Parts: sequence; C-alpha cells; structure tokens
Amino acid sequence: MIATHQINHQRLWKTLMELGEIGSNPNRPEEGVTRLSLSLEDLKARQYTMDVMREAGLEVRVDSVGNVIGKLVGTDPLAPVVITGSHVDTVIQGGKFDGALGVLGAIEAVRSIIESGLKLTHSIEVISFTDEEGTRFGTGYIGSKAMVGCLEEDTFELKDENGITYAEAFKQAHLDPANYKLAQRSEEEVKAYIEMHIEQGRVLEDHQLSVGVVTDIQGPIWMEVQFQGHPDHAGATPMNMRRDAGLAMAELMIEVEKTAKKHGGVGTVGKVHIEPGGVNIIPGKSTLSIDLRHVNIELRANMVKELHQSISGICEKRNLTVNVELKKEVDPTSCSKEIARLIEESCAELQVPTMKLQCGAGHDSLIMTKLTKMGMIFVRSIDGLSHNPKEWTEKEDCMIGTQVLLNTLVKLAK
Ligand SMILES: [Zn+2]
Repeated sequence: MIATHQINHQRLWKTLMELGEIGSNPNRPEEGVTRLSLSLEDLKARQYTMDVMREAGLEVRVDSVGNVIGKLVGTDPLAPVVITGSHVDTVIQGGKFDGALGVLGAIEAVRSIIESGLKLTHSIEVISFTDEEGTRFGTGYIGSKAMVGCLEEDTFELKDENGITYAEAFKQAHLDPANYKLAQRSEEEVKAYIEMHIEQGRVLEDHQLSVGVVTDIQGPIWMEVQFQGHPDHAGATPMNMRRDAGLAMAELMIEVEKTAKKHGGVGTVGKVHIEPGGVNIIPGKSTLSIDLRHVNIELRANMVKELHQSISGICEKRNLTVNVELKKEVDPTSCSKEIARLIEESCAELQVPTMKLQCGAGHDSLIMTKLTKMGMIFVRSIDGLSHNPKEWTEKEDCMIGTQVLLNTLVKLAK
C-alpha cells in the first residue's frame, strides 16, 4: 500500500481497543461489549469519542438528538459538507468493531489529513449517530432519521424493558425530546455521505480481500405474526380436532425460507414464542418475528404478498385467527455510482485489490441516502461474525479500510 497521506494505524488500533473496553467486563471478556443506546455505557462511549475528536483537532458539537459531530472546517466554510461516520452504540453482547470502526476510522482519517497539512475546500464532519442498533427501544437509526427529517414523534413514547420511555432516556442524557426537529439538515448543506463498516458477512473473507465497495443495501421489513388457536389437552384432543397455533408457526417458518429462496432475497424467523408453553398442552397462541430483505423493492413486495397468502391458507386449514403487525419497513437503496467509483479509484492508487458487493445489514447510510448521495466501504469480518463477542477484524484490515476512506474523503472534499 502506497499512501500519500498516511494514517497512523497504531493510533487507530489503540482507540478501537480503548473504546472496546467501555461496556465490557474485564473479568468476562466472553460476554463482549454492551452499550445500549443512551445507557451509561453508551454515554461514556460518546464522551470517549468526543475526547478523541478534540485530540484530533476537530470542532465538536452534539446536535439535538445526541449525534456527536466532529468537524474539520474546509477552506470554503460555506461549501456543502462531506459527512462520514457510523455509530458507537451496540447490541447486547456485541463486539468491538461494528460501528466503532466507522467512527474511529473516520476520526483517524481526518486527523491524518490535518497532520499532513493538506487543505480541502469542503468541510468534513465525522458523525457518531445516536441509536443505530435499535436494541433498547426496538427501533433504530434515530440519529440519522432525525438528520434527514423522518423521525416520527411517537418514537419518544417507546419504552425499554425497564419501562423507561425514549423521552425519559433523552432527558437523562441532557437532551430535550421536544427539540428533535432541530437536528434536521438540508440537502444544500451536505455534499455526500460515506460510511466504513465491517462487512458482517463472509463474502470478503471468501475472496481473501480486505475491503469491498458496496453497490446496494437490502431494505428490511419486520413483521410480527400472532396465531390464535385453542390450548386443549394434548392427550384428550384427537389430531383432527386441534387448533394448534404452534404448528401454524412451524409451517410459516418454512414458508419464509421458501419465499426468500424463490425471490433471491433473505428471510429469517429469529424470535418465537408459544403459549401457554406446557409439555401436555396444545399451543393456543404463537408469536413469531419475520425479517425479510431484498435489494429490489418489487421482489421484496412479492415476498410479503406470498407470505400473506400463506398465512391465510394456514389459518383456514387449521381453523385459527391471526394478527399481522408491520414493525419496520425500510426501503432498499443503491449506493452512489460516483462515490463507488471514487472508492475503487482509491483502492487502485493504494494497490489494494477490491470487489463490489451487496450489503445485507441496515446502516445509517440507508437513511442518509434520503438526504445526499451515499457510499460504503466494507472491511473484512473474521468468519463473518458480528453482533457477537467474537466479532473481529484484523488490525491490517482496519488500517487498509481507513486508508481507503482517507483517500476517498480527499477526493470528495478537495
Ligand atoms: Zn453497525
């Protein structure tokens, strides 16, 4: 790798490891990192991020929804800004790289630009977005949604498992939920958004590549399906007289797999619940989650339509009633071809081999595309693991990804 403005990979690694200690128990490293949004751990991680930003020489501010923003002012302060970043909140027992690499790598890249003395026309903002993961309140992308102006007010009524509302969590973090609209940015003030993130899959590993250029991002639909049957005695109720909600759930799970395979998307049932839950009681009620994703919105709609038909068929056959609730719907999106080309050019000048790939997970970039043109750099994840204490990305890959980010930022902001 030959770089004109070289990043400091030791400094980057040090910050990744230090941030990774926040929210982890040194006596139980196998439990990974837990920094649920606006929890004490998350607030500490934000403070750490702000400290690193200030050390790097960035102007730091926190917007009205808690997005942490570090700015390198360009030679034309009125020119639209180039934004890069990710998030520092995690899932329960997550890892050290998901989100963190995108934030700390961006700070390192901008810090190296400052140190090189290179002057750029456009300002660059490094942003650590509030609540990307959505683990605590069941809905994510809060910071980026507010920034593009699509955060819904009733989000603040959501409660975490301790009964704390989002509004209360905001107040505890010294944020006023009534001011959430102030975080919105206009299209005119933003030039581009670029996010570096660990891949969370095994495609780059399979191709033995450190970094990849994302072309499209799959959009997730989350549904919750609840079948209602009758909880009869397992011994006294013949097979043909049953209204078994558990079997309906099992049948639907297979249908999710079938429809995903048929349309080239992905479908997952990750959460199931059966009631009353006795060995000798026929399940009277079953609840399951469905996560459907595709890069093509029409094909995804076909997947949803087919599942609704399956659900009706299952209910009719088994004499059940059903309730289907749409929990989340994010449109799939394509990355900017122009930014993808700049990332590829950066890889070429650094002599870093790369490939194009799709993104299966949701990211703030998916939301930011409503505001500006967007690009993503993926960095290899060992064994494709993420949202897992064993999540790992090698030091060298973090360095290469961050260097590619730096070169691309220079092209975008020059
Ligand atoms: Zn992430």
